[in-house]
Amino acid sequence: MPLVVVLRLGHRVGRDERITTHVGLAARAFGADEIIIAGDRDDAVVESINKVSQQWGGSFKASYTENWVSLVKEWKNNNRAVVHLTMYGLPLQQVIQQLRLEQASRDMLVIVGGPKVRAETYRLADYNVAVTNQPHSEVAALAVFLDWLFAGRELEKIHEGGRMRIIPQPRGKKVVHI
Ligand code: SAM
Repeated sequence: MPLVVVLRLGHRVGRDERITTHVGLAARAFGADEIIIAGDRDDAVVESINKVSQQWGGSFKASYTENWVSLVKEWKNNNRAVVHLTMYGLPLQQVIQQLRLEQASRDMLVIVGGPKVRAETYRLADYNVAVTNQPHSEVAALAVFLDWLFAGRELEKIHEGGRMRIIPQPRGKKVVHI
């Protein structure tokens, strides 16, 4: 199965720990395979996302890149798809069929920005995709995008391994430690 890898741009130490962690956790929960974080190097954020995978299962991985432009260029040179989520792009509902075909046949890099996105991101991407043309958040954009990409199948995904599992309850909490 081709991979879906999220690239989170513009992480800032001291300001973005919580939101970058949430981008990573949303990426994992909504079916992506990996997150690569660019911007300030922040091993604590990478580690906290990887810790969640160890606890809750699955093979999701977080890592850091010093040079995201090279990473994107290499990705394209290897004929893998590059999608950039931006409010200025084409509406998700217009391009989703093409993107599902892409995802079925080749690995896909999904770029989400931070506070400022460099102009070249728009040029490097094969697809600039808007999840509404209104401003909101990288976590929301990514979650909705992945849910549409996988057409809801990610909700059934089983995260094998891990040390904890929730037994769903109508009320209260039940967690088993494995
Ligand atoms: N002002 C920034 C810029 O230069 O584009 C964007 C800031 S926004 C808080 C952070 C990220 O959330 C964006 O880079 C984009 O990836 C994502 N995002 C926010 N609204 C979006 C939308 N309507 N559609 C797709 N992605 C969106």
